[in-house]
Amino acid sequence: MGTYLFSNYSKKPFEIMSAKGSYVVDNLGKKYLDLTSGIGVCNLGYRNPKLENALIEQSDLIWHMPNLYVSGIQEEVGQKLSYKQKYLAFFCNSGTEANEAAIKLVRKYTGKTEIITFNNSFHGRTYASMTATGQSLIHDGFGPLLEGFTYMTYNDPKSIEAITSDTAAVMLELVQGEGGVVPADYKWIQNLSKICKDNGVLLIIDEVQTGIGRTGLTFAFEQYDIEPDIYTVAKGLANGIPAGAMLGKKELGSAFTPGTHGSTFGGNKLAMAVASQVLDILENTSILDQVKEKSNFIFEELKNLDSAKISQIRGLGLMIGIELKKEFPVEKILSDLEGKGILALRAGQNTLRLLPPLTISQEELEEGLGSLKEVLE
Ligand SMILES: *Cc1c(COP(=O)(O)O)cnc(C)c1O
Repeated sequence: MGTYLFSNYSKKPFEIMSAKGSYVVDNLGKKYLDLTSGIGVCNLGYRNPKLENALIEQSDLIWHMPNLYVSGIQEEVGQKLSYKQKYLAFFCNSGTEANEAAIKLVRKYTGKTEIITFNNSFHGRTYASMTATGQSLIHDGFGPLLEGFTYMTYNDPKSIEAITSDTAAVMLELVQGEGGVVPADYKWIQNLSKICKDNGVLLIIDEVQTGIGRTGLTFAFEQYDIEPDIYTVAKGLANGIPAGAMLGKKELGSAFTPGTHGSTFGGNKLAMAVASQVLDILENTSILDQVKEKSNFIFEELKNLDSAKISQIRGLGLMIGIELKKEFPVEKILSDLEGKGILALRAGQNTLRLLPPLTISQEELEEGLGSLKEVLE
């Protein structure tokens, strides 16, 4: 059978047809425990009733209106995303667009062009976000890239020395996701943030994967006791309805005057209706405390694994990386897990990545860890 699709993704031969909670079901009726949340998107589980209701209620009213009219639902989500009410929001549809907006805001506001990012980072696939991404594999064949980007070594104290008053911004993930689940060192981030402040350099935190509760707080930057100038979110924001946002300190607002930037679909009412509920659930339930407890449980269990295949275990909250020794390719482990009805991900060179739903139950966690144990020991 031929295909009408570009082959830019390597795809599994089966199709997921339906889902509920932490489980998905394929076209042959096989059930899988999804430890990926659809790559960090469906963080509150599949078919979450509150979210489903919000979507259905909004779809009965209106789906789309352009950004030519005031939007109460955008204001609501903007306020809920605004850390300590110090930030303004720009809404878009994806992570790469949120980062694109951040880079545009920085250049427009500062009048400077130089942006520092880090090796093995991932910020997206459009030109500015792709250029910001510090991985040559993602750049190859797509040049010329944007000018003005410099890549430094993540977690390296020396890389901070590259920051000068000529730098417009420093951009980074607090846990490099695609790059292998690599958390930033607390002290390094503290120093980096201070040097940015001292030099009038804006700090952009890419929270596309770490944000919206994934690490046990709404934003990972709260774990590092910093206040970025700009942060971006997307993946988990509307639990599977496409949505992204760039949040910038209010004083940066003067750079985005009418006509400077925009998006047809950004702030779409269906997406905003769901995002508003997602943020309510994070704020008004004990889910974030549970994320911390589940995280402690998982890392404790993983530490006790008696496996010659593991070289390092890393992560934060429910963002978990198990780096495997070279002799044990992650692809094989993933297909073994798949055989046992468990979906997981790869990251970096040879790291098994788990992004379970934040709503996963204790029994489901034990099921997942049990299979992991069988495959890794
Ligand atoms: C996934 C991801 C992106 C890109 O998001 P898209 O919605 O695929 O454009 C950017 N940054 C980080 C940290 C991500 O994990």
